[in-house]
Amino acid sequence: FRGETISIIGESGCGKTTLGRMLALLDKPTDGNLEFDFGQGLQGVKKLQGHDQMRFRKKVQMIFQDPYASLNPRWRVGRIVAEPMLAHTSMTKQEREVRVDALLSQVGLHPTDRDRYPHQFSGGQRQRISIARALAVNPEFLVCDEPTSALDVSVQAQVLNIMKDLQRRLGLTYLFISHNLAVVHHVADRVGVMYLGRIVEIADRDSLFENPQHPYTRMLLSAIPDMTGSGTRRTPVAGEVPNPLNPPSGCTFHPRCPFARDLCKSESPAMVTNGENQVACHGIAQGWPMTVEISAAVL
Ligand code: SF4
Repeated sequence: FRGETISIIGESGCGKTTLGRMLALLDKPTDGNLEFDFGQGLQGVKKLQGHDQMRFRKKVQMIFQDPYASLNPRWRVGRIVAEPMLAHTSMTKQEREVRVDALLSQVGLHPTDRDRYPHQFSGGQRQRISIARALAVNPEFLVCDEPTSALDVSVQAQVLNIMKDLQRRLGLTYLFISHNLAVVHHVADRVGVMYLGRIVEIADRDSLFENPQHPYTRMLLSAIPDMTGSGTRRTPVAGEVPNPLNPPSGCTFHPRCPFARDLCKSESPAMVTNGENQVACHGIAQGWPMTVEISAAVL
């Protein structure tokens, strides 16, 4: 939804980054649809060509995971931040310079930083430069692919707070990809849980964290350490992620699910609404007992 932060969580290799890269048109989907609200309702994005595709690219920008690799080390910061303006606008050199100065100030850097090179900045400052570059052409939607995972914890908080502040001021919409559930709890309005390329549960942040329903979500959240739970038995997700090139039949989580029945092996569960959450699970849809076994099966 416009103006919200939706987070995607899931194990490494489940497809979170691929989803983000497809939304930013960096990877092509092999199947399915990609739709975006251009102001006149949803419109397919996959077949956009030429000018229309450039218009979409301008609206959707990306902040990458590694601020060390995503900035050209041979370019000064001013040129890095101005590059999207060169690609997407007809601004003059002077207009671009004024805009670069304003963007650097917006992300907490000084306008004179435009003359320095990326290696002269700390990790957190580099990620601020990435944010300034992503904002250069007034995007509406930002794909943030683990934007703080390469940073120290104290710097993570600074960068996240800048992102939240910019979202409020500029009305931005974020897709926030992360495997850090504490960070997701801090920034997200809604959370989607991805397993092997499919969203298996989606809900408002509080519903998802307080009342997780899909067995996979419950196991993921059970693995979060907390100060008060010392000595509490955990229920980690058992086994390995299956090969996505040859996914299991039916519900792809069935080889690791303590509640799996024959139906799970043959039929892929549809997404159903259960209370505040939308969940893709036969057990939830059909009301199977799913409380006692979760710890018994794994402990
Ligand atoms: Fe487990 Fe079956 Fe639900 Fe899949 S559909 S999560 S295997 S109970």
